[in-house]
Amino acid sequence: MESRPRVLSGHRPTSALHLGNFEGTIREWVKLQADHECLFMIADWHALTTGYRQLAELPDLIFQVAVDWLAAGVDPARSTLFVQSHVKEHAELHLLLSMVTPWTWVYRNPTVAEMIDHLAAGESASYGLYGYPVLQAADILLYGAGVVPVGEDQVGHVEICRRIARRFNELYGEVFVEPVERLSDTPLLPGTDGRKMSKSLGNTIDLSDSPDVVTDKIAHMFTDPQKLRVGNPGRPEICPIFAWLKLYAPDRCGQIAAECRSGERDCREDKALLTELVLELLERMSDVRRRYQTEPDTVWDILREGERHARAIAAETIERVREVLHLALGPSGSSGVDS
Ligand code: SF4
Repeated sequence: MESRPRVLSGHRPTSALHLGNFEGTIREWVKLQADHECLFMIADWHALTTGYRQLAELPDLIFQVAVDWLAAGVDPARSTLFVQSHVKEHAELHLLLSMVTPWTWVYRNPTVAEMIDHLAAGESASYGLYGYPVLQAADILLYGAGVVPVGEDQVGHVEICRRIARRFNELYGEVFVEPVERLSDTPLLPGTDGRKMSKSLGNTIDLSDSPDVVTDKIAHMFTDPQKLRVGNPGRPEICPIFAWLKLYAPDRCGQIAAECRSGERDCREDKALLTELVLELLERMSDVRRRYQTEPDTVWDILREGERHARAIAAETIERVREVLHLALGPSGSSGVDS
């Protein structure tokens, strides 16, 4: 019987994963594997909430996310990796939770509002997009996950999940564990243009980028716009390069900041330093990445095995939910619905 605290987290397969994903979540997952029962979900149904038109690439993106996770240190011997849509109980629980979730909780959800703001011009928000927080609550509650690792910008997701769990438990009895967010120690890191790192903004450094691409992206990264050349005093606190160096070279940042402010520092030095450190990090992932890319069947087997484990847990939860909602099968095995 598994006694470690259970963790559920995941990513949407909308693009290759980037350094912001790695530092914001995956690095924490890798640590959690040691003493938690971790389930990591490729949230393909969530991907449809904002991108339902072109789905031909979805299998490749699912594969890519799995390879990114494995390359970054997620260990399939200790963690469960699976695809959300392969466990149909997510859909059933989403439907049932949607019946007890007040509309105002989703309508006023800031994350949904932000996603609607980012929709392409002329695209209207779907019913499914408004239901995103409820589907996410189903993902977490289905596995009784007590811990949900999130970045600062996602705390609201866990809060609404707690409220839904509490409301359901009050109405029907204690079924769900109220999850607690686990915040990453890493602050939100900027993209190459200084805004939040996001594929939709085209400002990412991907875990699968080649050394040439990484070098080129960092060479074109924003710095302090007032520091055009050596001699101009700079402001490290607004510089995206400096934000990354604080994470990757903390012991050198005092000197870098002082030299930046005095004007003597050359931005090219810091770009070269950051390039070296990022390439070192990605190089450490490259052997595992190559291995799985040349063995796609192994990756799909890992996801199939994860699916089996996830379905076993999900089936138990759904059985309990049906029971408290009086939706369980009757003694004769019939559903009890008159035809
Ligand atoms: S010198 Fe370094 S810290 Fe200062 S603006 Fe240039 S890159 Fe940023």
